[in-house]
Amino acid sequence: IQILPLSFLSAADQAFVTLATTEDYCMGALVMGKSLRRHGTTRKIVVLISSSVSPERVFDEVVQVDVMDSMDRTHLSWLGRPELGVTLTKLQCWMLIKYKKCVFLDADTLVLQNVDDLFEREELSAAPDAGWPDCFNSGVFVFRPSLHTHSRLLAHAAHYGCFDGGDQGLLNSFFKDWAVKDISKHLPFVYNLSSSAIYTYLPAFQTFGHQAKIVHFLGAVKPWHLRYDQSNKDSYLDQFLNMWWAEYRSQMPPISGEVDGNQDSG
Ligand code: UDP
Ligand code: MN
Repeated sequence: IQILPLSFLSAADQAFVTLATTEDYCMGALVMGKSLRRHGTTRKIVVLISSSVSPERVFDEVVQVDVMDSMDRTHLSWLGRPELGVTLTKLQCWMLIKYKKCVFLDADTLVLQNVDDLFEREELSAAPDAGWPDCFNSGVFVFRPSLHTHSRLLAHAAHYGCFDGGDQGLLNSFFKDWAVKDISKHLPFVYNLSSSAIYTYLPAFQTFGHQAKIVHFLGAVKPWHLRYDQSNKDSYLDQFLNMWWAEYRSQMPPISGEVDGNQDSG
């Protein structure tokens, strides 16, 4: 008899979720998904895409979402905030109610180690933002899909707007007791290591950086904007960038539980 850990038994109704509304972010989503597979996740991997993009077979489920501008004129005009389009698109992850618990990962993240233990956390768990640590960074977060929560989030956006014009401001104002209420909802920073933090606190990075589980290339310049350059090994960021490009070029890692490598060769 094979005894499976409890986390494995409940794996079917748990998923990693990302979002890609453009071809560029699709490259990111692909790399993120492959890196999850490479580290042997037992959970499903779901991508929310808009109709204009075509993802590859790394995902278990491809869910087409309408970018908010076209999807829901009612909500957006009611909101009067067209710039919130992509943000509100991200909120549609709460509509994935066939899953009980999910982990959202931005398409500009790269997984360096298995992070299935994130499913032991509750909504809303996230790591501090490097720029303002009383806010969580919304590039990696644990949540429970729920139509009720989804509509409460939309209503919150309509009523209060969003202080940074993006999903992070909205989610922080909605889950506003995150900073103080429950320390178990604070993910260690290594679950969302923002590339900018490497330089703002280099000694900490040198001490703890090897424990990094997820790297987040936040900011305007994304890995897909930069070229792969083997000779650029000097900085830590270059090393992460090279890892990103290596994953992009790599063969599709085996799906956990699949017996042989009957995979596309890439
Ligand atoms: N995103 C998208 N299309 C866009 C912008 C953003 O699909 O045009 C998604 C994508 O998953 C991305 C996330 O929204 O990772 C958040 O945006 P981004 O990572 O650029 O923000 P940052 O982390 O730099 O603040
Ligand atoms: Mn991001």
